[in-house]
Amino acid sequence: MISRFAKSLGLIVFAIFLLSTLAMIHPPSRSYMEPWSGQIFGEGGVEKMLHDKVFVQPPIISGVKGGVIMPKLGNATAKASLGRATWKLLHTTTLRYPEHPTQDEREALSSYFHLSSRLYPCGECAAEFQQLLAKYPPQTSSRKAASLWLCAVHNQVNERLHKPEFDCAHLSNEYDCGCGDAPITATDDAADPMDLEDNDSKDDVTGVDMIRGGR
Ligand SMILES: Cc1cc2nc3c(=O)[nH]c(=O)nc-3n(C[C@H](O)[C@H](O)[C@H](O)COP(=O)(O)OP(=O)(O)OC[C@H]3O[C@@H](n4cnc5c(N)ncnc54)[C@H](O)[C@@H]3O)c2cc1C
Repeated sequence: MISRFAKSLGLIVFAIFLLSTLAMIHPPSRSYMEPWSGQIFGEGGVEKMLHDKVFVQPPIISGVKGGVIMPKLGNATAKASLGRATWKLLHTTTLRYPEHPTQDEREALSSYFHLSSRLYPCGECAAEFQQLLAKYPPQTSSRKAASLWLCAVHNQVNERLHKPEFDCAHLSNEYDCGCGDAPITATDDAADPMDLEDNDSKDDVTGVDMIRGGR
């Protein structure tokens, strides 16, 4: 006959076995509910939400990275005039870029250069530009950083083409468009030529051309 002690021991062993089996089926959870607010903390609650936020991926814009798209240009005259126009555009862009750009603006400028290096209409120049971008990734932290970076990249191209080095201290003078830094939403007191309501050569009511002077 089994003693009472042996029975109790058997029951305890069975209970331990049952609990450990259950624990293996359901992985341990560290979440708990705060009794006062009812808010759930731990793996399934607030901590999980915060954790997820850290790993939010920025949107991936397709097409920014990749190989050169355009064919070889060849013609030296076309290549030179295209180059002068492009450098003007690129330097003016960096010199009007924000002093304190947001993360979005930084990504926009970086994408702009990478897209330019794919789509530049002179394929052989684009291939060189891509190598330069790989070696010297765009500096986008500020206007100064971006404009000096581009100046240095241009000087790399100058060196390869046996052209004189440009003194980057003269950047602002060379590319001063005289346009200032007015926000694009600023109102301009000068008459807008596209605003017919402000155009005294038209009749306010009918919009018909006014006859000036007379014979
Ligand atoms: C991305 C890119 C890649 C190119 N790759 C090639 C190539 O592989 N082969 C090729 O034959 N041509 C290439 N070109 C064209 C080449 O760089 C010149 O534009 C072209 O040869 C005409 O030269 P340029 O002497 O008139 O002066 P550019 O180099 O066009 O410069 C125009 C003006 O910018 C100023 N400048 C010069 N250096 C700088 C600088 N570092 N920073 C700021 N301003 C400066 C000067 O006032 C100069 O007169 C490329 C152009 C670009 C935009």
